[in-house]
Amino acid sequence: MSRCYNIVVVGGGVTGLMAATLLAKGPQRDALNITLVDAAPRPVFSPDDDVALRVSAIATGTAEMFASVGAWEYTAATRVGPYTGMRIWDESDTPESAAALRFNADEFAIQQLGFIVENVLLQDVLLYQLDRSNATLRFASPIGKLRRAARHYELDLESGETLTADLVVGADGARSFVRSAVGIEANEWPYEQTAFVTHLRPEKPHGQTALQRFLRDGPLGILPLQDGRVSIVWSTTPEQAEAAMAAGDAATGHMLSEASDYVLGSLEVAGPKGAFPLCARHATSYVLPNLALIGDAAHAIHPLAGQGANLGLQDAAELAAQITGAVGQGLHPGDRPVLRRYERARKGANATMLHFMTGLNRLFTTDSAVLGELRTAGMRAFNRSGPIREHAVKVALGVG
Ligand SMILES: Cc1cc2nc3c(=O)[nH]c(=O)nc-3n(C[C@H](O)[C@H](O)[C@H](O)COP(=O)(O)OP(=O)(O)OC[C@H]3O[C@@H](n4cnc5c(N)ncnc54)[C@H](O)[C@@H]3O)c2cc1C
Repeated sequence: MSRCYNIVVVGGGVTGLMAATLLAKGPQRDALNITLVDAAPRPVFSPDDDVALRVSAIATGTAEMFASVGAWEYTAATRVGPYTGMRIWDESDTPESAAALRFNADEFAIQQLGFIVENVLLQDVLLYQLDRSNATLRFASPIGKLRRAARHYELDLESGETLTADLVVGADGARSFVRSAVGIEANEWPYEQTAFVTHLRPEKPHGQTALQRFLRDGPLGILPLQDGRVSIVWSTTPEQAEAAMAAGDAATGHMLSEASDYVLGSLEVAGPKGAFPLCARHATSYVLPNLALIGDAAHAIHPLAGQGANLGLQDAAELAAQITGAVGQGLHPGDRPVLRRYERARKGANATMLHFMTGLNRLFTTDSAVLGELRTAGMRAFNRSGPIREHAVKVALGVG
């Protein structure tokens, strides 16, 4: 069976779902037939389930994007952990030292710096919106083949169905099938680190503060959950991450209490565990005629500043805005000049963040005494840098 769709979004992670929602609820919704295809089953969120392993720090600006499609009110009322403060320090220092970076929401006249949200909840609220639109959703639908035809693409699903797309949006994650099927290369910079992830119960209250301690093997991020627990992302050597996975809960809790320098007292494992090998990746091109890559399919960055999903969501918003504007002017949404406007707006910004995170990770994992001195001096100077500090924080928060 062959049916014609204007836009096929491949991938139902947060970025693909956001792109589909913005288009399906946008001013050109009647001119666009949108379908979303994902190889995995439809994600299901229930507030009765325990907090899922994968959570993301969502910037205040990103929360506003969810609000713009009617998907924030339920999220906020369901299970989000707002964080109002942030502390970042090197293992040779303490969170109170002059070289530690400290940010508070009130100094930027905002209620919170961001929110810790389960990825599956973000998917769920967008799916709720898509269920109430004209978009069609195909989960558990692996793609067999993607091929270019005259001015469109054809996607053969393993179910036997063929979809025809004026525009394919590749939102299928870091190992994107779409990206490789159309021959777009991606540069890779392996971090030689694995992110160990779990939830812990801290002895002391987290005080709605996100913490990051830079260790020589990689940063330990400690994110406050709504229920008093913390979610940690410990980027460390693959061997340490493997040891933390294999150890019993008491031993893992001890490893993390040590790694955190007992900033919140002893930490007790209170959730599932997972490990994610880390690698920076950047597609050499985001667009071809009739095709665009967004989110991790276009760029994957170190999780140390919690920016990956935020950047992907900004891609989704930019692409949707360009498509909406083009269709409004009677242009074809898959035309290269239309898609190049999206690429120009996002590729440089994503590259800057990707290389900044890679550099920051390297700077903190070096044993060099000279670089250590520079790092401390740099952090002190940043703390006193006034407008530079304010600008950097506002970029990270996606506001102003
Ligand atoms: C440990 C860790 C912590 C992180 N913390 C943060 C954070 O705090 N804040 C933040 O902003 N970011 C964070 N990130 C990054 C963030 O998780 C990713 O950037 C984000 O999830 C990418 O979303 P995506 O929709 O682009 O891709 P994905 O979430 O990978 O979704 C891709 C989708 O495509 C589907 N798919 C794959 N292949 C196919 C195919 N062939 N056909 C059809 N469908 C397919 C998959 O099933 C999946 O649903 C973190 C990452 C890691 C590893």
